[in-house]
Amino acid sequence: MNPIRVAIVGLGKIARDQHVPALRANGDFTLAAVVSPDGASIDGVPRFDTLDDLLDRGPEIDAVALCTPPQVRRELAAVALARGLHVLLEKPPAATPPEAEALEGLAAANNATLFAAWHSRFAAGVEAARDWLADREVLRATITWREDVRKWHPGQAWIWQEGGLGVFDPGINALSIATLVLPRPLSLTSAELDIPANCDTPIAARLELRDSGGTPVEVDFDFRQTGPQTWDIAVETEAGRLLLSHGGATLTLAGNTRREEDREYAGLYARFAELIRQGRSEVDTAPLRLVAEALERGRVNRVEPFYD
Ligand code: NAP
Repeated sequence: MNPIRVAIVGLGKIARDQHVPALRANGDFTLAAVVSPDGASIDGVPRFDTLDDLLDRGPEIDAVALCTPPQVRRELAAVALARGLHVLLEKPPAATPPEAEALEGLAAANNATLFAAWHSRFAAGVEAARDWLADREVLRATITWREDVRKWHPGQAWIWQEGGLGVFDPGINALSIATLVLPRPLSLTSAELDIPANCDTPIAARLELRDSGGTPVEVDFDFRQTGPQTWDIAVETEAGRLLLSHGGATLTLAGNTRREEDREYAGLYARFAELIRQGRSEVDTAPLRLVAEALERGRVNRVEPFYD
């Protein structure tokens, strides 16, 4: 089979850090073009200002990886899917679950693959955690995702604007893992959001979730953490404690710790290629549903302004 010709749309931090190297390391794909409004480019790869420019006068492509801020993603996805292109959506896949589901319908109507990519689900410890938890009785779980926004999102004004999700931008990664590894579906009980006086989106959030059996899951997201960073999910079961740390890369079971190389985006592109080959889409909106509900129903505390 010929390599899948893919264009990256939105050549920012995640595209450069992860998508470009993962695509280059995967023989199922070739990087055929990039779209970047600010003129950013990659040596030897044709560049276009807009997706429309690329589609009108660019090289032939089979797929796009949408790595823009979330606010413009749905429109770009709709344009690409209408042309029958396969689409990988960076997270979050859309503003709301119905929006993502509508895109899935559009993909089906155009015989294209839509992949709502949750990169954290490909972290090294996640699959083993899911397998271990599958037949265990969970007593409670705690999710702690605390990072320094100035370090990880410098100058990203979009994160503080409507649709940018604020602290849920990394927090949704934790929820993408939790909704995969915990054996029963989760729903929101309550949410408290700290929103800076000069921003639209939260800088911190505390959620109370429950699974369908009533088991509590406590969530603590904070963008104001300096010093050591925390990306942990701890699950207490009748058979002992499971800890996923470093964003899912490290798994500790019964006191034994296993940490492996980061391979999230290699796994993600392997899955995209598989879905395209099988002619299927994969759009799981469970993490987005929790975030959309927390933003809608959460009690808001206005906190001090944030300056980057
Ligand atoms: P970023 O550094 O701000 O990059 C976004 C890029 O998209 C910018 O270069 C921006 O150009 C470009 N862009 C904006 N509108 C566009 C359009 N209509 N067409 C084409 N390009 C457009 O943001 P990021 O950190 O890479 O994050 C992007 C997405 O990836 C977010 O949804 C985020 O949640 C997700 N993600 C990020 C990380 C991470 O560690 N940063 C990790 C995993 C996933 P301008 O600057 O000129 O507007």
